[in-house]
Amino acid sequence: MQLGVLLNRVFRTKHNPLFSYVEQNRSKIDACYFIIPLEDLKGASERKKAFYFGTVNQFLTELAKYEIRPFLVTYEKLPEFCQKQKIDTILMAGDIMSYHQEEYDIRHQREKLTAAGLEIKTIRVQHYFHPRATFKNGDEPYKVFTPFYKANRPHVTIQKPAAYSLKQLSEITVTGTGHLDHSYPDDGLSEEQAVANWQTFLNESIEAYETNREVLAEIKTSWLSVYLAYGLIDIQQIFNQLLDQREANEKNYEAFIRELLFREFYYVLMVTYPEMATQSFKPNYRQIEWSLNKANFERWKNGETGYPIVDAAMQELNQTGYMHNRMRMVVSQFLTKDLFIDWRWGEDYFRSQLIDYDNASNVNGWQWSASTGTDAVPYFRMFNPIRQSERFDQDGAYIKQYLPIFKAVPAAYLHDTEKNKAKLAAECDIELGKTYPAPIVDHKQSRQAIMEKLGRR
Ligand SMILES: Cc1cc2nc3c(=O)[nH]c(=O)nc-3n(C[C@H](O)[C@H](O)[C@H](O)COP(=O)(O)OP(=O)(O)OC[C@H]3O[C@@H](n4cnc5c(N)ncnc54)[C@H](O)[C@@H]3O)c2cc1C
Repeated sequence: MQLGVLLNRVFRTKHNPLFSYVEQNRSKIDACYFIIPLEDLKGASERKKAFYFGTVNQFLTELAKYEIRPFLVTYEKLPEFCQKQKIDTILMAGDIMSYHQEEYDIRHQREKLTAAGLEIKTIRVQHYFHPRATFKNGDEPYKVFTPFYKANRPHVTIQKPAAYSLKQLSEITVTGTGHLDHSYPDDGLSEEQAVANWQTFLNESIEAYETNREVLAEIKTSWLSVYLAYGLIDIQQIFNQLLDQREANEKNYEAFIRELLFREFYYVLMVTYPEMATQSFKPNYRQIEWSLNKANFERWKNGETGYPIVDAAMQELNQTGYMHNRMRMVVSQFLTKDLFIDWRWGEDYFRSQLIDYDNASNVNGWQWSASTGTDAVPYFRMFNPIRQSERFDQDGAYIKQYLPIFKAVPAAYLHDTEKNKAKLAAECDIELGKTYPAPIVDHKQSRQAIMEKLGRR
């Protein structure tokens, strides 16, 4: 067999099931082509592009240590490349989802490569469960998280990883260029760094996870979303470690495992109902006439809504390519409820910025906030940005970090700027509408409008 192995977003040398498959099937393989299909990050921010290409670069450096130099081919040219090299079989992650463009997920790639006459072999690589294995009575996915968690949590067990030697694999590997034409050498993340960061989180932070996950001004969560989106660590290994150490602090370990199962839950839903990527999961929410106010959308994107907590979060996203989970909930509710703008606009903007963008988690996150998803927040439980700010950024540290104009302002004035308008002007030289935007909507009025618009459905 002339085997092409797609290392798409599986940028790790350790615990990589694609490599174990090659090792186990060595006797049947005449030649092995490792291929990194390069993504066209059209519409992505420069930061996201730099992170992606930088991470690919670091992976190439790591592979070179084992004398493996993969071929780098764009997705568009992949079928043509395989035909030219006379590759007859493709091995790829059967659970690869979209991290930027939908057509890079397993569904589209399988179709495209099969049409090019290639035989496709798929194996588990990026997620823990095979979707069907999680189904209720074997034939239907769970649509609510708690029963999904209860039914599937007992099946999360320690799994022994298959061993392989990359040095030996290099003997049957056809040498490609192993070189990337993009120049983002210092960006992105290496597998080694990701594993080290994860280990630090396990050593220092997980035992206070439930408290830490609400800290805004400092990232005290795991950042696994980033490592998982580039396949830098195997989810099976993560669960192995969590299960192994769980007894040290069951409450916090279990809270963390539960979050990882949210990722699995959303993945299963997206695989089963791919149409949810672009349409509301709940049929009675599909005809909503969302606001088409582009000026408000721009202000939300640029962090100019006049609600400091929302604006700080959008700055975090625009400056770092990451956003804290609570803030993702706050800004998505603000866009869809306070501004009544289509969740798909927000989903798309997040896609362009988030370095940890994962279509399944993002779409479900947005549909949760917009109340259009399955197991979503009910429409009447609308976040109040002022209350969220008071509760989760009491001392204003997060707001001050991303909105320097407020550096010297007492925290008490930061949550509700409209109420503290006079004090801001007199004591801090901040004039709403001039030096900082006045709130673009009145939350109370928006809330009333939502009750009427969504309550009728
Ligand atoms: C509107 C919205 C959009 C989102 N978009 C994305 C996205 O594009 N990519 C993404 O990975 N996550 C997304 N999330 C989920 C969540 O915000 C991130 O996974 C989390 O903030 C990542 O930081 P962390 O790894 O440090 O989290 P931790 O708190 O350390 O959590 C560990 C892991 O558990 C999983 N997890 C935690 N919370 C969630 C959740 N709510 N949904 C699904 N999985 C979860 C993730 O894999 C995460 O890496 C979104 C949430 C919302 C509300």
